Amino acid sequence: MLIWHDVSDRARTDSALQQSEARFALLESSISDGLWEWDLDAKVVRFSGQWRNIVGLSPTSATGTPQDWFERVHEEDRDLLEAAIEAYLSGNNSELVHQHRIRHEDGSYRHVLCRGIVVHAVRRRPVRLGGSITDVTERIEAERSLRDSGSRDPLTGLCNRAVFVELLRHRLNALKKRQAGQFAVLFLDLDRFKVINDSLGHLAGDELLISVSRRLESCLREGDVLARLGGDEFAIFLHELRDEKQANAIAFRIQDAFSAAFPIGGREVFTSTSIGIAFSDFRYDSPEEIMRDADTAMYHAKARGKARHEVFDAHMHALAIDRIGLESDLQRAVRCNDFEVHYQPIVSLNSGDCVGFEALVRWTRDGKPVSPSAFIPVAEELGLIEAIGSRVLREACRTFASWQRRFPGSRFDCITVNVSTRQLAQQSFFRMVEEAVRDADLKPSHLRLEITETALLTSPQTTAVLLQKLREIGVKIYLDDFGTGHSSLSYLHQLPVDALKIDRSFVESLLLPERPAIVESILALAYTLETGVVAEGVEDEVQALALERLGCRYAQGYLFSPAIPPSKVEELLDSGQALVSSRRLMIDRSPSTHLPWTARLDSSVERESELVVARR
Ligand code: C2E
Ligand code: MG
Ligand code: MG
Repeated sequence: MLIWHDVSDRARTDSALQQSEARFALLESSISDGLWEWDLDAKVVRFSGQWRNIVGLSPTSATGTPQDWFERVHEEDRDLLEAAIEAYLSGNNSELVHQHRIRHEDGSYRHVLCRGIVVHAVRRRPVRLGGSITDVTERIEAERSLRDSGSRDPLTGLCNRAVFVELLRHRLNALKKRQAGQFAVLFLDLDRFKVINDSLGHLAGDELLISVSRRLESCLREGDVLARLGGDEFAIFLHELRDEKQANAIAFRIQDAFSAAFPIGGREVFTSTSIGIAFSDFRYDSPEEIMRDADTAMYHAKARGKARHEVFDAHMHALAIDRIGLESDLQRAVRCNDFEVHYQPIVSLNSGDCVGFEALVRWTRDGKPVSPSAFIPVAEELGLIEAIGSRVLREACRTFASWQRRFPGSRFDCITVNVSTRQLAQQSFFRMVEEAVRDADLKPSHLRLEITETALLTSPQTTAVLLQKLREIGVKIYLDDFGTGHSSLSYLHQLPVDALKIDRSFVESLLLPERPAIVESILALAYTLETGVVAEGVEDEVQALALERLGCRYAQGYLFSPAIPPSKVEELLDSGQALVSSRRLMIDRSPSTHLPWTARLDSSVERESELVVARR
């Protein structure tokens, strides 16, 4: 490696020059890099023997003109090299590291990594530029043969995950040896791909993936690599980056490229992509690590509304580190059975009765509650959800059956329990459910299992069989978060489900002035399919009223009650006290409605007790 002294005036230059000559000679004999030194005033470039050796000239040092150099640079790379030098000299770039091709005497081209450092005179006037070239041809060719090795994705012709990972491994090693510049990995996931695939069919889906591949390729520079990782996931390797801005610019270019429709099977199809970016860094030891970070950043992009890109940063890094702590704490919590089950009342919108409860798992970590939305996916990945899920199910059945025995006059007759897709895949799931109801002495018809649309999409056949078996013993099936997934409507009628739960986001939309008709559509669909409907996340009376008017009969939400611990449910049931809520005020104002909004838990005639329905 060359070390150039910053000699700031000519007076010191002579001795410095001698020193640097000596160093030059010494370095020349010991390194495989070719050295060059460009006197900007005299417009003379001195090339070391090794420099000349790399391009096939006799290995004795010699001088030439900058033109001698530039005319050897591959025609397609020349402007870029000049631009890189210019950007460095003008101070727009803090370093000069640039890869280009250079012609060998035998007519072939070598790939070289060119680095340089400027020497300034007074007032920071650049007088000399010195640097090195590293022959990286072998690495580039190894990578190319890797890419050409037939390990291609048959659909798009792009390289596949295995090749991409190997390529990344190469580059990471090269980076560590300072034989390659900074790079970035982009992780892309198409938004709404499943919807398109399900509604237009797999052939159209394939066609879209091919078009997307071509469009992505058109956004890249020579030397960048695009791979299809599988499904609708792509990865991009951006080589020799000057800075992060350059990667951002390419990400914007990609987003832009998606703004035009894709003509698929005579239709115009729109899709967008969420992109996560991770930059090369010396802390990465393996390609998997950098891909994991790009993936994490992609998830952030999705979570922030899709069709955008996010750069993996220190904050995400902290979250990722915390994830490790979270994993071990979760494992411990499973061992010690540190979970609780809380119950959210489900209310009849017509009568105001509490007709059932949804069991929701609760976990407190270091004294702070952790949202199930944060830890359930982790538990799923770690294979802990089966243990957590079966405990929640058993406990919910037991608790609910005990309430039924203790409060015989009550109107609630169902307990709903969330079931993760992974649980459904378990061989023993059916038996576990049977045992849970039997041990709790609960009638199976009082148990409702909430599944999500993903469960129906992953192995629909086996899931349908399992659900059918469960229904045969009397257990009912609810489809949770309905409308947020990707199930095609045409497919729904075949599903063995007893009710749809309208996702909170749609219930929220009821408050919008120009609200979409999605809730009506879901209700109409449920009517056609003869399934029940439960609205989730009702927080406002306006929503409750609108839902009732639209014919929705059941709801849950903070307006009635959040999920509460069993002791609190029992306290309320025991005391039978009537509790004032904001709903009451509304009832007073509209006497025609028969006590509609209060969730009555115990409706024995004399003491109509009502559940606390305090708002959050
Ligand atoms: P979910 O099944 O859709 O449950 C409804 C979620 O909405 C619950 O969040 C509930 O507390 C919350 N919620 C209820 N009413 C309102 C409201 O009016 N406004 C708002 N903003 N939120 C409301 P929670 O308890 O945080 O659970 C989140 C998700 O975690 C659940 O969504 C469910 O998918 C999952 N989950 C919870 N418990 C379990 C479990 O035991 N097993 C499995 N597999 N998943 C669970
Ligand atoms: Mg649920
Ligand atoms: Mg839900």
